[in-house]
Amino acid sequence: MEMAFLCPVCEEQTQCECNDQMETLECRHCDWSRTVPDRALQDGAVRECLACGCEDLWKQRDFPQWLGITLVAVAATLSTIAWAMYENVWAIGILMGFGLLDYVFYAIMPDVLVCYRCRARYRHSANEGSMPKFNHETAERYRQEEIRLGKTPQSTPPQ
Ligand SMILES: [Zn+2]
Ligand SMILES: [Zn+2]
Repeated sequence: MEMAFLCPVCEEQTQCECNDQMETLECRHCDWSRTVPDRALQDGAVRECLACGCEDLWKQRDFPQWLGITLVAVAATLSTIAWAMYENVWAIGILMGFGLLDYVFYAIMPDVLVCYRCRARYRHSANEGSMPKFNHETAERYRQEEIRLGKTPQSTPPQ
């Protein structure tokens, strides 16, 4: 399983491979490290976040935001040009084509698990199929927690 997290000290991103035998999680950019409890990783599945110990993770498509935005922007530009040239069928066809492309990308993209508290991301976790999708109430709870702790809340949902 692969994970990516932001170091709580230096705020740099570290990507690493993790497995059930893993004992410590280390930042590649500074001295920060955290002992990984035995229960955190079981049979290739994340039970709690290795970076912060949070048990709430959500599942989302590993769909890069730039790709979604690019598809929408290109579709809008092309169909606007077609409308301007009175090519209505083309204009609608272009929108439908890109809508379909978006759907196909979405369908083939793998899932990724994201930690509500620290936004660490986990790829290829054995339990990703059974994890819930993003929940605004849970996210709000963690946002309030961050505010209480005096941190700047992260925007939701991130990519
Ligand atoms: Zn660090
Ligand atoms: Zn976390």
